[in-house]
Amino acid sequence: MEMGCIWMRRAGGTNCLVVMKPAISSITPIASFPVPPSKPPRRLIFLFSSSCRLFSKIACSSPTAALSIDDYETGTVNGSISSKSSKVLLKGMRYTELEKWVQSHGYRPGQALMLWKRLYGNNIWAHCIDELEGLNKDFRKMLSEFAEFKALSLKDIHTASDGTRKILFTLEDGLGIETVVIPCKGGRTTVCVSSQVGCAMNCQFCYTGRMGLRRHLTAAEIVEQAVFARRLLSSEVGSITNVVFMGMGEPLHNIENVIKAADIMVDEHGLHFSPRKVTVSTSGLVPQLKRFLHESNCALAVSLNATTDEVRNWIMPINRKYNLGVLLETLREELRFKHNYKVLFEYVMLAGVNDSIEDARKLIDLVQGIPCKINLISFNAHSGSEFRPTSEEKMMEFRNVLAEAGCVVFLRLSRGDDKMAACGQLGKPGDIQPPRLRAPPRFQMAL
Ligand code: SF4
Repeated sequence: MEMGCIWMRRAGGTNCLVVMKPAISSITPIASFPVPPSKPPRRLIFLFSSSCRLFSKIACSSPTAALSIDDYETGTVNGSISSKSSKVLLKGMRYTELEKWVQSHGYRPGQALMLWKRLYGNNIWAHCIDELEGLNKDFRKMLSEFAEFKALSLKDIHTASDGTRKILFTLEDGLGIETVVIPCKGGRTTVCVSSQVGCAMNCQFCYTGRMGLRRHLTAAEIVEQAVFARRLLSSEVGSITNVVFMGMGEPLHNIENVIKAADIMVDEHGLHFSPRKVTVSTSGLVPQLKRFLHESNCALAVSLNATTDEVRNWIMPINRKYNLGVLLETLREELRFKHNYKVLFEYVMLAGVNDSIEDARKLIDLVQGIPCKINLISFNAHSGSEFRPTSEEKMMEFRNVLAEAGCVVFLRLSRGDDKMAACGQLGKPGDIQPPRLRAPPRFQMAL
């Protein structure tokens, strides 16, 4: 057993926990529409240190039941079928897949295009058959028999004092996700979508991370968050221009569905977001990051948050598998082949942990040779958090050091935090939570 990170699974119903290998590099391709889905698994996955008490207890309880995370990947609903009705989920298909499906039912490709435009364009964002005006009667009948329009049910919308909206959705299996719409000055409005229910990455500063991972979202469930946001809020907040995959979950842990959802979002006959305005964020899953850069032309954000492995191992346990050196060298290599492409580094500023002037200087060295922009993000406190936000004044000092060295750097202050809609505040942890990791000794006094 590796003594670094481990993955652990709590199997629903059986009340047993099993140790998992950290084999997160291989992802199984999605099922296409004719394959019926299995029921989504009710279980949690955490990533954390082998030094915790829970680990030894569980490792003894089930030594032969070790499973890799690949088992989880293959057991997850990834296809385009609604598990409730066995109908095809229209929003789980790329245009080419929809066209084939429509043809397989005896209709022309032109009808697929008309349907696609009603699902995603022309200010219609159709949610049901009644909203498909202008489509052939027989075609509509076929759709009512074999197709499902909605993957999400709207539960509630909370509006924060700064105008940020948090939209709560219920999934078909009863689980919940959250989506945030952030209106900005200058006509830019961003929708922040979730890619998983919970998250396995256990970043120590993140509320969502305390949920563990319940399951991946399907492509339809991801796409529909953006469709819903436009449908519900365009008249209030204006055109929604940007998408960030920075809601609940580690998007690249669900890479198959995330790439598919991003493809659907940028389709020019549909939602037509510019690829440069669709940003997928990662905590640093290196193999998936490479694959994303090869297969997608959407933007990439990397959540960096530390300038040493000591700190990053503590606040982002994924660093124990892919450390700073590996992560940054991969970006340096891969971006050599991407023309006119800059990665966005996100840096959540934690008082006394990663916000010194020495950190700023180290950060300048770390990103040398990588075409990039840097977002300095203020930490959003939540209940039970041991971290404190860096003061605005100190954030500006830090920013100035980077700017003077020639970095492109922005300050991102909190949005929507009075409604728990800000970065790192989404979701609702249950009773079973991944353990807190111990701070390196030199930080224990500071916290
Ligand atoms: S910061 Fe992102 S990757 Fe880390 S636990 Fe939170 S949701 Fe997961």
